Amino acid sequence: MELDKSIAAVAKGLYAVVLFCIQMQSIKEVLSKDQVGKKVGVRGWIYRTRSSGGIVFAVLRDSTGLVQVTVKKGAVPDADFESSTKAGIESSVEIEGEVAEDKRAPGGYEVRASRFKLVGASEAFPITEYQSTELLLDLRHLWIRSREQTAVTKIKASLVRGGREWFHDNGYTEVNPPIVTGVCPEDSTTLFQLKYFDRIAYLSQSAQFYLESLIYSLEKVYAITPSFRAEKSRTPRHLAEYWHMEMEAAWVDNDGNMKVQEELVSAMVRNAVSECSDELKLLKRDPATLKKIEPPFDRMKYEEAMEFLQKKGHDVSWGSDLGAVEERTLTVDREVPVFVINYPKELKPFYMKENPEDSRTYKNSDMLAPEGFGEIIGGSERETDNALIIERLRDKGESLDSYQWYLDLRKYGSVPHSGFGLGIERIVTWVCKLEHIRDAIPYPRTVARVYP
Ligand code: ATP
Ligand code: MG
Repeated sequence: MELDKSIAAVAKGLYAVVLFCIQMQSIKEVLSKDQVGKKVGVRGWIYRTRSSGGIVFAVLRDSTGLVQVTVKKGAVPDADFESSTKAGIESSVEIEGEVAEDKRAPGGYEVRASRFKLVGASEAFPITEYQSTELLLDLRHLWIRSREQTAVTKIKASLVRGGREWFHDNGYTEVNPPIVTGVCPEDSTTLFQLKYFDRIAYLSQSAQFYLESLIYSLEKVYAITPSFRAEKSRTPRHLAEYWHMEMEAAWVDNDGNMKVQEELVSAMVRNAVSECSDELKLLKRDPATLKKIEPPFDRMKYEEAMEFLQKKGHDVSWGSDLGAVEERTLTVDREVPVFVINYPKELKPFYMKENPEDSRTYKNSDMLAPEGFGEIIGGSERETDNALIIERLRDKGESLDSYQWYLDLRKYGSVPHSGFGLGIERIVTWVCKLEHIRDAIPYPRTVARVYP
């Protein structure tokens, strides 16, 4: 009797070891025909669960997908069955079982459990089906577990990887510009000031000036950094902190700059379509529409954009800026991005090169995403004449002190050069067809929010 008990204890111990030793697989790996009849281990979080007549039907999620697990009384040790009836939504669990085909289960397969281990119980999860946007933002640290947010995050990573690979394949070097700076490349009203020891510094709005300094040794450079803009107005396309993919290249004019942009964006989208078609479909974005994103993209002069907008009933004229509403009209019927080029000087920053064909304008371009999404890139050829740069800085009322080093760049072997900045959350918003840019980043920073 005693011997039987100890044999049973040893056997139980061995079983536990076996449970721990079984090769855990991702849900995606388990959901396949050649796994049918095989013993597998899966682990993840309970996505939903119900029980009926001595069977628990739990759907598990991991980063790769969903799978149904059935836990039948008698088919698992009693304690395991007990745990499975208590494990609520978001509990973390490990399961061992056999894969079977089941047409009704998500993905067409299920795991029939032989062991069920509750790893971390979950209290009643505070997010249920219908929640206000504000609550979801307060519970962002939990909401990022949602399947939509997971899909967006994967697509974003795939777009960025596509971009990095494109740059690498085309001879660009990735560099690391500073985030704490003393310069203001864009609008001074959106600078974040910080106390930096005993003086004032700013959080970077753009790495451009630093990238410009690096082309003299590396010629073609890019950087992926956070940029900061104190955007006071609440719009669905502005964040206070966003990720910026910026490029700068020597010997490149404004036309060459646009070629880089259209090839880069096409490569990024191509990568996301090839790696993330399931995630795109989950977000109700048809990958087929994105397959049309191939160069060349149309070029439209600012002047032509004005005429188009006037015909569509917008009250705009030479010198009007293009905001979200105008960019929507310009792109809503397009399937592929378009460049708007040669903006009036008064609408753009001081460092752009004057357009020799029309001195009222710069050699610059904004790339607008189709389907109404609007600007995703701002780029230009850079001014190389220090006298013009100094004049424009003075007109802006800027002190030249913080720009001496920038002016130096034109004194020692200046070259024609161009570059651009791509807003990563902007391209994600378009590719994922999101209504608001805050869903393109796990923790959006806006005028109203630094929590969580
Ligand atoms: P907008 O007119 O939309 O405010 P911008 O002209 O200020 O844009 P740039 O200074 O040219 O933008 O910055 C380069 C790119 O960075 C933009 O094309 C956009 O994709 C992105 N971007 C700019 N500001 C923001 C922001 N506040 N949040 C997210 N992305 C931004
Ligand atoms: Mg802006």
